[in-house]
Amino acid sequence: MKNSLKKLVFKLLRYTCIPLLIRESWQKNKVTILTFHDLSLPSAERTFKYLSKNYHIIPLNLFLKACELQDPKMLPSKAMVITFDDGHKNNYHLLELFKKYHIHPTIFLCSGIINSNRHFWFLHQRNSLSINELKKLSSKEKWKYLETTGFLPEKEFDDPQALSKSQIMEMSKFIDMQAHTVFHPCLSKSDDYESRKEISDSKAMLETEYGFNIRALAYPNGDYTHREIEFAKEVGFACGLTVKSGFNTIHSDLFQLKRLDPDDSEDINELIVKSSGMWFLLKNLFSSLS
Ligand SMILES: [Zn+2]
Repeated sequence: MKNSLKKLVFKLLRYTCIPLLIRESWQKNKVTILTFHDLSLPSAERTFKYLSKNYHIIPLNLFLKACELQDPKMLPSKAMVITFDDGHKNNYHLLELFKKYHIHPTIFLCSGIINSNRHFWFLHQRNSLSINELKKLSSKEKWKYLETTGFLPEKEFDDPQALSKSQIMEMSKFIDMQAHTVFHPCLSKSDDYESRKEISDSKAMLETEYGFNIRALAYPNGDYTHREIEFAKEVGFACGLTVKSGFNTIHSDLFQLKRLDPDDSEDINELIVKSSGMWFLLKNLFSSLS
């Protein structure tokens, strides 16, 4: 019932034509960055078909170059960057679709989890504390709690959750691979040592073991403070991506780039509403009224 109501809401919002109006006006001369995680194959087909028809999908690098040169003419109208966080193993099955729709996304990899049977802490089965409750703990408390549930960041489980090295290397001919820390901590809850290490080690490992040119950091869970920006700058990142909702321009703060999250939705109406920015505008409107 709840799901069908949600579907109805997004359908109604889509057919207000407001997503179309936003796309052709406010969003038109901005750069929209979308976040995905573990999109299923059928959803990805629908998603990429719609987005490639209605936006100009560009690589993250082109946007960074335009920012560097302060040249808006390098960017098409309705420019959109597609990003995937974490490096989930099923991302590999999307490779043919990326090629089919000429999409060059960026995948942000957790360097300590890829090519291993280590697991993402937020996917680990727990009985008591929810993900949101865990995110509120200090990093030390969180790891300590997870240990009591049988989880350790370096523990090898029976199956992988992330991409293997051979998959990453094959995909990297078409896809930009960038950093998402080592073990996906909530950086703002880490101490100085862990925060710096997570940021610098992920970059170093992806560069030395994979040969990638790592310039972009996606803050895990979108958690960051001024400290993380400083650490990222110190070790040579060129930008940082948040999960703050909004659009970007060549004048945006490169270490606080905004992204919209369509929540890996199976529903095309939800994708259309969320990728246009209408959803975050509505949320902002309601929170300013309440
Ligand atoms: Zn993540």
